[in-house]
Amino acid sequence: MTSVDEILATEFGSKVTILGPNDCWTWNAATDSSGCGRVRIKGRNRAASKYAYEVANGPLPKGERLGHLCFNSGCVNPGHMALRSSQEMHEARFWSQVSKSEGCWEWGGSSWGDGYGQMRVNGKATLVHRLSFEWNSGPIPPGMVVDHMCWNRSCVRPDHLRLATPSQNQRSQSGPNRRSSTGVRGVTMRPNGRYEARLVLGNKKIQVGNFESLEDAADAIRLAREELWGEFAGNG
Ligand SMILES: [Zn+2]
Ligand SMILES: [Zn+2]
Repeated sequence: MTSVDEILATEFGSKVTILGPNDCWTWNAATDSSGCGRVRIKGRNRAASKYAYEVANGPLPKGERLGHLCFNSGCVNPGHMALRSSQEMHEARFWSQVSKSEGCWEWGGSSWGDGYGQMRVNGKATLVHRLSFEWNSGPIPPGMVVDHMCWNRSCVRPDHLRLATPSQNQRSQSGPNRRSSTGVRGVTMRPNGRYEARLVLGNKKIQVGNFESLEDAADAIRLAREELWGEFAGNG
């Protein structure tokens, strides 16, 4: 088989600008409307990137299509190409839509209405925080969910994600809900002016106590949560 070096020594090579072996190899001749290089080889008009890939890797398997890991359609570096269906390509597509920072790593691609990002993988729409967890930490056991420790639904940073049971996930909240009258999760004010603290999960209610002050009720319910729910206690 002809090597890439031999191909680059031909007319094909004269149409390519190569900065370094790992950089994009820019095609300087004819392109199609999407910027992909076109080249005439033995009388056939072919995609330049696919031609370079096949010289390096052999024929593209039937039914497969190529993608650019560098997302530069004018690039013909065979090392920047992978099968569209490959894990490498899924991950490249994934991370190209994430902005990383010191804190959360934000998903910038499409989302469902509830704020959870999603991406199509092999034709199937999948939640991106689940993809990030699976690719970095391993499979999600049946019945388990992936919980955001940072309470940021658009975050895909692997060390902000953990496995939880659905009820652990439900307990681990960032604070009171919008309907809270006291601003403390699980604490309500009674008609007699005292503060009642109780834990509610599904149909189960656990009485923590009645308190003179909101601060005392807040302390008591925080301790009760930490004791019962451990690392899934969440915030008050
Ligand atoms: Zn490239
Ligand atoms: Zn986060």
